[in-house]
Amino acid sequence: MKIICIGQNFADHVKEMNSSTPIEPIFFFKPDTCLLRKNQPFFYPNFSNEIHYELEVVLKICRLGRNISERFANRYYNEVGLGVDFTARDLQRNCKAMGLPWEVAKAFDGSAPISEFKSKVIFPDLGNLDFWLEKNGEVVQRGNTGDMTFNFDQLIAHISKYTTLKIGDLIYTGTPAGVGSVAIGDRLKGYLGGELMLDFFVR
Ligand code: ZN
Repeated sequence: MKIICIGQNFADHVKEMNSSTPIEPIFFFKPDTCLLRKNQPFFYPNFSNEIHYELEVVLKICRLGRNISERFANRYYNEVGLGVDFTARDLQRNCKAMGLPWEVAKAFDGSAPISEFKSKVIFPDLGNLDFWLEKNGEVVQRGNTGDMTFNFDQLIAHISKYTTLKIGDLIYTGTPAGVGSVAIGDRLKGYLGGELMLDFFVR
């Protein structure tokens, strides 16, 4: 399976990063070795001094498809979860400055904690879904899927123009404003539609 991550999909996050809103979705990949399941601790890597959390709603692909039209895109995912796209912001800044790929900043082991998945039918409106992140008991990030620049169906249509989606692939759909650093000892809790989905420590 593969993990596809969307960049700059919330206007407020684009602003805090001093970027500009993209005219089409931006995506990149993480390998499956990034996944951290069952609230396993995230081990702070020794190659960075600035690891940032990015809380994101995650779609799980349930059908093989390519060149999927936006109209039919919702048939290609039936479960939704919550994940963190950990980013070595210091390394990413260097990559951006040098015009280099982002993998060292994004694709390292353990950089993609993932929750259990829920059937999408339990959510009354996927286009209006609140999610938030608490760090040590304080809310640090808050988003709503209605504020995405590109919605789930548009993302699937765009990605599948370039790369075949396979059963089990995950799409991290982008992060809202409020990204920030973590330190060893921090406890992160992620909520989706009011429900606690992620609860793990940084070690
Ligand atoms: Zn992200």
